[in-house]
Order: sequence, then C-alpha cells, then structure tokens
Amino acid sequence: MKKHLLTVIVSAISLQSFSQTASRLIKEKDVENIINVLAADSMEGRGIFTPGIEKAARYIENSFKTTGLESFSGSGSFRQNFSVTKSVPLAVEVNINNVRVPVENCIIISNGTFKWNNDKDVQVLKIKPGGAFLESYLSILRSGKNAIVQVDEQYRDYFNHLRKTLANGCITLKNNNPSGQVFILGNAAEITSFEISYQDKTQEIALSNIIGVIPGKTRPKECVIFSGHYDHLGILPPVKGDSIANGADDDASGITGVISLAKYYKKLNNNARTLIFIAFTAEELGEWGSQYLSTQLDPDKIVAMINMELIGSDSKFGPNNAFITGFERSDFGAIMQKNIKDTSFQFHPDPYVKFELFYRSDNASLARLGVPAHTISTAPIDKDQFYHTVKDEVKTLDLKSLTATIQAIATGAGSLVSGRDTPTRIK
Ligand SMILES: [Zn+2]
Repeated sequence: MKKHLLTVIVSAISLQSFSQTASRLIKEKDVENIINVLAADSMEGRGIFTPGIEKAARYIENSFKTTGLESFSGSGSFRQNFSVTKSVPLAVEVNINNVRVPVENCIIISNGTFKWNNDKDVQVLKIKPGGAFLESYLSILRSGKNAIVQVDEQYRDYFNHLRKTLANGCITLKNNNPSGQVFILGNAAEITSFEISYQDKTQEIALSNIIGVIPGKTRPKECVIFSGHYDHLGILPPVKGDSIANGADDDASGITGVISLAKYYKKLNNNARTLIFIAFTAEELGEWGSQYLSTQLDPDKIVAMINMELIGSDSKFGPNNAFITGFERSDFGAIMQKNIKDTSFQFHPDPYVKFELFYRSDNASLARLGVPAHTISTAPIDKDQFYHTVKDEVKTLDLKSLTATIQAIATGAGSLVSGRDTPTRIK
C-alpha cells in the first residue's frame, strides 16, 4: 500500500512537471482526429500517383490554411510541385562476365531505355560487407552517374525489401541526362565484362510536397524544419480481405506530428526563427520529395531539421521514450534531451544502428548537405510485425504515446525555435 502510494505521488509530481504548455495545447483528442483522417481507408494507403494521396495532400493543405501558415518562399501555395520520371521496365537483360544474372538479383534505377556493352563511362562499384548499404546506395543514386554496383550477399534482406518497394517501377527527379544504376546482389567475381539492356516505358509525372511556414519574429533568416512523409505504399496484395496499406505509423503519425506542432507554435506565436512544416511525398520510393526540396533551399539557413517517422507506438524503452537517429552526428539530440530533462520523457540514441535508420528517411537528404537533420521515432523496428503491411492501422497504435511524443518534441525543440541553441552541423 505504502509503495503504491509512493508510486502515485511520484507520478503525480512528474506529471505536473511535464511541460505544461505542450500538454495544454497538444491534446490527444486532436491528435486522434488528425491521424484518423490521414490513415482512413478512403485515403487508399496514400500510394503515389493515386487519387488517395491527392486527398491526403488536400487535407494537409487545408490544415495548414486553417492554422494560418504562410506559403514557402512567398509562392502563394502550400504545394511545392516538381516532376519525376517514372520508369516501368518492359524487358531487362543483365549479363556479367558472359553469365546471365537472374532479374530477382537486380535493382535497376533509370530514367529511360539504355543498352551497355562494356561502355567505358559506366563505373563498376561495390557495396562491401560490414559497411552501410543504404548510405552507399543513396549516394550512388544521387550521383546520377551510370554505374554497375555489386552488392554483398550480407545485404540480401534489405535488397529484397527495396526490390519489392520498386516492383511497380522506379522514379527519379526529372533530369534530361539519361542515366542508369544497376545493383546486383551476390558475391560475384570481379566484373571483367558486362552487357546490359534495359527497355522501359517512361512517363513524366507531377508530385508535390506540402509546405507551410511561420515566419520568425526576430531571426527570420534562420529556419527550423518539422517534417514527415505523407506518401505510403497504397494497395498491397490482400490479407484476410484487407488490401489497404493505411500507413498509420508510417507515416501518418509523423504528419500528425507536423500538423499538431504547426498548430502549437502558431498558438504560441513567439518563434524567433522561421518554422517550416513539411509533408514530403515519394519517400517510400527513394526520398525524392526531400531530395527535391534540398535543391530548392540554402542549407546554411537551416538550423535543424526534425523529421518524424513511426512515432505512434511504445518504443523498446517503454512509454514516454523515443529515439533520435544519428544522435552522435551532431549535438541536436543532446539539446532536445536537455530541454525535456525535467519531464518524464526521454530521447535516446538510435538503438538499431544496423538498420541504418538515419538513411531511411527524409532527414538524410538534408543531412548530406550538413544540416543537423535527424529523425525521431518510437518504432520497435527489429520486431515491428506491422511495418509495411496492411496491418499498419490506427488501432495498432498507442495514441497516448503518440501524443506524448509530439508534446516532448514541442518542448524539446523550444530552444531551437527561440534561437537559444544552434546544433552543430553534420560532417
Ligand atoms: Zn516511412
């Protein structure tokens, strides 16, 4: 009984000291309403190029409008439109050292038909074991150069995962230079000769990021980004009659964070720095929305980027805990933690380093340019049985945890918003 009483008193005290402003202004009921809309069946899993994602885009735009946000760079619209080339393979043949490589061991990213026969301008690269697959994969993709890349067997799981995501074709930012990157799984011998032919059907398609801004009151040239991605996988093969990949955690939860934080800071209306709220598109197919954004801003003006991805469940550390990817790469995480140290919430370094989560979300596009850009997450990613399945639904989430995480981010980012702290840059 005594022990029980003590627990009650301790929780009461920590509850009281939990940032009161955030808990007063960010309510679970509102959080629930937002995520219920974004992850509804009517959004059809927010697959890119579908009417479902367009509905989500309109909902986010509308939320930004009713919140009273301004447009990015005075464009007059919350949409940041850009074009991508979608390439759907029709016929693919890959021969290495005169041996045919099975298609299931290949990932080809291209923006048009090509044929190589030992061409000198094609780089031959390797993603070696014990390294970082995604980091290498993305940097080869971003280089835009023709390349054949041998991927070590060690990365089979992630390779297959990526292949599945690209099953309906790949996309690349619109670019008039034809290029191709061919990733081949397996510990093949040194490549001495290659013949590759890739025939596809291409289509140019418009996509949009949704961006809203609260201009800084005293230091408007310094910006803090809050972001998530609003696209998801759309429709998947049915499981027990359900084929809609609602993506409640991935990443309706992050967008719920973006909208809730926009409302929160707008109500406070005392931000020294400019706050930019972004819902990215085309994250699932290669982080293209953030990649496009990164070409449209001056990275030196971005003081920090707080990306939210899968924040709707209890983390492996239990309730009231979240982790920050790339924690050790800047002092961003330490600043966030310092600002909530008197609360019952805690930010931890990413416990899943081998999953390369730092590169698996939109923060990576800005981190490449030196921005202290990190993703905050609560996902138990090593055993998340709902991740990228039709079961990622609101009912599998914990909305109390989601609300607590958003409140902690609101409080944690306080000194970044007020200009009191400036995180170190990422090398
Ligand atoms: Zn995601």
